[in-house]
Amino acid sequence: MIDHLIPISRGGLSTVANMRVVCVLCNASKKDQLMDEWSPPHLTLS
Ligand SMILES: [Zn+2]
Repeated sequence: MIDHLIPISRGGLSTVANMRVVCVLCNASKKDQLMDEWSPPHLTLS
């Protein structure tokens, strides 16, 4: 899954610098939260 560090809905851009690969759990839990607001659903970020 591709996640945006700053969600598009929060003004983020669709650039490589604003993207990272995450798992389904992370993507589903993060939604449109910023990295500072989001608590990962498990310890290992992937
Ligand atoms: Zn994950």
